[in-house]
Amino acid sequence: MKIITDQRCVEYAAPGHPERPQRVRGAVEALRGAEGLKISWAEPVEAGEETLLRAHTAEHLRRLEEAFDFDADTPAYPRIAQHARRSVGGALRALQAAREGETSFSLMRPPGHHATAGRAMGFCYLNSVAIAALAGQAQGFGRVAVFDFDVHHGNGTEDILLDRPDVAFFSIHQFPCYPGTGQRNRGGNCFNYPVAPQTPREEYRAIFSSALAELKKFKPELVAVSAGFDAYRGDPLAQETLEAEDFHWLGQSVRALGVPAFSILEGGYSDELPQLILAYLQGLEV
Ligand SMILES: [Zn+2]
Repeated sequence: MKIITDQRCVEYAAPGHPERPQRVRGAVEALRGAEGLKISWAEPVEAGEETLLRAHTAEHLRRLEEAFDFDADTPAYPRIAQHARRSVGGALRALQAAREGETSFSLMRPPGHHATAGRAMGFCYLNSVAIAALAGQAQGFGRVAVFDFDVHHGNGTEDILLDRPDVAFFSIHQFPCYPGTGQRNRGGNCFNYPVAPQTPREEYRAIFSSALAELKKFKPELVAVSAGFDAYRGDPLAQETLEAEDFHWLGQSVRALGVPAFSILEGGYSDELPQLILAYLQGLEV
């Protein structure tokens, strides 16, 4: 199991913001102390301009360098462009590990799945998962699927991947909830599974299962996972019911797909986040 992280990703914060340094700091501590998980640590690789431009506009990359907040949730932290690029670099390193046949998880912030081609929003600045999926394709994976189990709709990933050939996007998320999209499928390749608030976990799992069955039919050669842990019952930003063992089951389910896969951290804002990540990684590894 390759875990990609970089301590600089905890160097920015805003008072009271739920997307806080402790999310990664706590998870690193929990993983260092974890028994039964053989971890090799790695650092993000450099994310070059050409790689970013597959998913984002040049205008957006310029805008990231400016010191104006994008919206109330998405401040222009000092050096946020570098932080976001490093988070992309974590996803690219995770992709590299997947290519080498290793299970991998990028434990970085900021998250990325709300960032569209031209806009930062919802705590997200650059769309790491979409960038890495497209990089995977450029590196020779013919068909690439993105599986997004964060409780929020991956609107940015959908925006970037919509109708791209040989790429498919599957998002399972609470609806209604932020950002208000994802009620129905879009184009020929974006499949959305809206889930009502307070859906019992057995039902939530059944929806995951049907999404994974559809994903299998797409016959991907590579699966990129937007791993968000905010469908947890104790998460302050949504109203779902999942337990740690459901994330363990998700890990097992991704592994059971039997194709190269890598995962990156998206959301998850409860104090239990480290245990949820650990449960997922143990599922991936078993
Ligand atoms: Zn989320």
